[in-house]
Amino acid sequence: SGYHKVLAENRQLYNEVQDLKGNIRVYCRVRPFLPGQGSRQSTVDFVGENGDILIANPSKQGKEALKMFSFNKSFGPSATQEEVFMDTRPLIRSVLDGYNVCIFAYGQTGSGKTYTMTGPNSLSEKDWGVNYRALNDLFHISQSRVDVFKYEVSVQMVEIYNEQVRDLLLTEGSNKKLEIRNHSQLNGLNVPDASMLPVTSTADVLDLIKIGQKNRAVGATALNERSSRSHSVLTVHVQGTDLASGSILRGCLHLVDLAGSERVDKSEATGDRLKEAQHINKSLSALGDVVSALAQKSSHVPYRNSKLTQLLQNSLAGQAKSLMFVHISPDIESFGETMSTLKFAERVASVELGAARSNK
Ligand code: ADP
Repeated sequence: SGYHKVLAENRQLYNEVQDLKGNIRVYCRVRPFLPGQGSRQSTVDFVGENGDILIANPSKQGKEALKMFSFNKSFGPSATQEEVFMDTRPLIRSVLDGYNVCIFAYGQTGSGKTYTMTGPNSLSEKDWGVNYRALNDLFHISQSRVDVFKYEVSVQMVEIYNEQVRDLLLTEGSNKKLEIRNHSQLNGLNVPDASMLPVTSTADVLDLIKIGQKNRAVGATALNERSSRSHSVLTVHVQGTDLASGSILRGCLHLVDLAGSERVDKSEATGDRLKEAQHINKSLSALGDVVSALAQKSSHVPYRNSKLTQLLQNSLAGQAKSLMFVHISPDIESFGETMSTLKFAERVASVELGAARSNK
């Protein structure tokens, strides 16, 4: 029957998923030099097929200058959008089987987070980012299972700015602060007051993302681009009804565009800028702490230290699976940020080095 076909299709995925639960996969992506920058010396010495990446410190010589990092995968500057998305596909499929999945974009402002998640401005199919490809897969697979499951898909999009959660899909642009709840009865719907809009196609979701991005820009000043100072979380809720038994599966996909990870110069930042920077640093380290506590199977996971980790609590623990795209720029001027980005990523990934390596 169709049901058994779906099950067989998923047996391999199921095994993969069992390996992955509670762990985070970390993929590193190096953006190319931008047009007009010419050919310059790169701080990225080598990107290996096994996920290794070798960074050269421009102010040191020889062996001293080199530092190796190792991730589940590393993509060099010539990697295509398709290659970058390829290994994400099993995770997307698992959302339709009732799993919760988080996909994060991490990195300093200008390192390529938006490029990976959304794509460049002039979107042709080959340039599609992870968001578009993920939703496309989601709707395709749900259509291919139409004889077996009835799927309903709806979307929420919120922003976390200075530890306040704001609805990005509210057409009237209210500033109402939203509460996060973590009752299991809420079926993962832990920001119950945020707009929840039903969607039936990738195009529907893209329209909502546009509205969300427009709302996110509200409040941005010329000096201080809001979108790089806040986290945005797009959540795709999927409910599947098994047509034979009537039983219900629920999964959700969180697409998280994190605030720029760059350290703000303390001597320069004052007032609002300093406050923003402190909130960002705090929430990014809280995310790092949660992910490493989970991977170490620690008995205490400090979800409550930030709104971001509270919001994603149900989707980081247990059977959930996460993937982080970590972005670096090859510029020598970015060397310091590149190192702190990779150290963060290493902390998140290396929590169980042995297993992370055999998962490749
Ligand atoms: P962020 O979202 O981290 O601030 P962006 O995605 O806006 O960074 O990237 C900064 C610039 O670099 C943009 O002009 C973008 O088009 C370009 N860029 C980033 N990654 C790539 C890539 N892999 N290939 C080509 N251009 C890229």
